[in-house]
Amino acid sequence: MLTLFESLVGAEPPHDAPVLFDTACVMGGSIAGLLAARVLSDRARKVVIVEPDDLPKEAGPRPGVPQDQQVHTLLPAGRLWVERWLPGVSREAQDRGASLVGPDKQFVGHDDVRQVRDGVDHRFLAIGRPLLETLVRDRVTALPNVSVLRARATGLRYDDGAVTGVRFAGTGTGGRGERAEGVIAADFAVDAMGRSSRLSNWLAQDGYDQPRLERLEAPVNYATALFERPAKLAELETATVLQLFTPQYPSGGVSVAAATATEGQQWLVMLMGYGDERPGRTIDEFRANCALLPAIFGDITSGDVTRDVVPYHQAESRRRHFTEAGRLPARLVGMGDAVASFNPVYGQGMSSAALHASCLASYLDSGADPGEAATEFFRLQQVVVDAAWAVSAGGDAARIDAENGTEVPEEVRRQRRVMEQIVRAALVDPAVSGAFNNVSYMLRHPGTLFDPAILEKAAAAVEGATAG
Ligand SMILES: Cc1cc2nc3c(=O)[nH]c(=O)nc-3n(C[C@H](O)[C@H](O)[C@H](O)COP(=O)(O)OP(=O)(O)OC[C@H]3O[C@@H](n4cnc5c(N)ncnc54)[C@H](O)[C@@H]3O)c2cc1C
Repeated sequence: MLTLFESLVGAEPPHDAPVLFDTACVMGGSIAGLLAARVLSDRARKVVIVEPDDLPKEAGPRPGVPQDQQVHTLLPAGRLWVERWLPGVSREAQDRGASLVGPDKQFVGHDDVRQVRDGVDHRFLAIGRPLLETLVRDRVTALPNVSVLRARATGLRYDDGAVTGVRFAGTGTGGRGERAEGVIAADFAVDAMGRSSRLSNWLAQDGYDQPRLERLEAPVNYATALFERPAKLAELETATVLQLFTPQYPSGGVSVAAATATEGQQWLVMLMGYGDERPGRTIDEFRANCALLPAIFGDITSGDVTRDVVPYHQAESRRRHFTEAGRLPARLVGMGDAVASFNPVYGQGMSSAALHASCLASYLDSGADPGEAATEFFRLQQVVVDAAWAVSAGGDAARIDAENGTEVPEEVRRQRRVMEQIVRAALVDPAVSGAFNNVSYMLRHPGTLFDPAILEKAAAAVEGATAG
């Protein structure tokens, strides 16, 4: 499992891949759909992305991705994937004013205690989500066999237990080449329609199994605003900040605060609260909350506001268990949030989509019979989803149980104690910090944290910190 995860993290584009499909149709043109299209461009004569939004040439918000005004961190696993499969994104991002931030300018803190550096050169792109998506999209749609149809996918067509087409309805704007409705003949289809994908309903209506939907309550309230940033990247001591606060820290209900020195000489600043805590619905509230936090938040939000506060609420994490569905059509997979979406504070969504794309590449490489349901794909994907779910849902379940005073089995209690110890030790011990970062950044499987050498170091570090 651990090595399989790492091989998915490091997946490379193939050198010489046989074409397997005539037309692959990707439903949804956001991050997961674009990365799927990139993989399929090596394997299909034609790739058609079906996306209802008018995809802007210049980076900007769009209705199909309502979360795109919030801070989006592309974890190292996702950034390295993008660089391998779509080279030049980080370079162009910097040319367009975003920052590629090395460890010397990163600050990760728990209750304002800085996590010790792990000595590894992990870099983060400080960039707005719309610009990141634009850079990815420009590269994918520049591929000679990839095109975009502006339409909404409305269902699937099948023959003999396999998908043979995607039904669509035009957006009604009457653009060139658009039809009101129709079917794209396709011998492979990808659901990348995000959290609100209706694929499960289509499958049930069409006589297939509906993958079980698992939900975990994780009510998060985001608030993000943009502020003028007078200092250039080179002049900044810190260019990305992530601070996590326990209920004991007087943060005014803020559980997580983050800031990145982003394009347009701006600070993108995010506050997040759980449950009833809604930090900063107005700019005055936002600034008042920032004033309670470590000094950098007060400093960077004292500049002019370049975009007002945009709130965002998400109630739960969700995953769909495709591996449990006995009867699925062949020539169909799902990727990204359509399959699993998590508490966003862990920043896993886009990197998960990248690793799902690795699963797709590996599945297509495996020689699996495309005339059968893509069981092997879903099995690989489960490894990625389980890993991400263990990190985010594991943390959320522990928090909710603690809030509600819920009794949990001894084994779960033990695992949570170990995780708490690792988190505390990561603040002071570089080796534990490194192991923890590798998992948080989706470079390594969470199981690596249970390596006896790491557990021993974690126990010693916590004991030392307590004694000291
Ligand atoms: C507040 C918040 C903060 C987040 N922060 C981070 C972060 O820091 N790092 C990170 O990696 N992730 C983050 N995420 C998660 C991230 O936004 C998602 O994981 C990511 O966008 C998933 O990409 P996707 O392509 O699967 O789905 P989406 O981005 O949701 O896109 C779905 C696409 O499908 C299209 N679509 C919908 N219906 C149809 C249809 N019928 N036919 C065709 N197309 C359709 C939509 O128009 C859209 O383009 C955050 C999420 C939230 C809510």
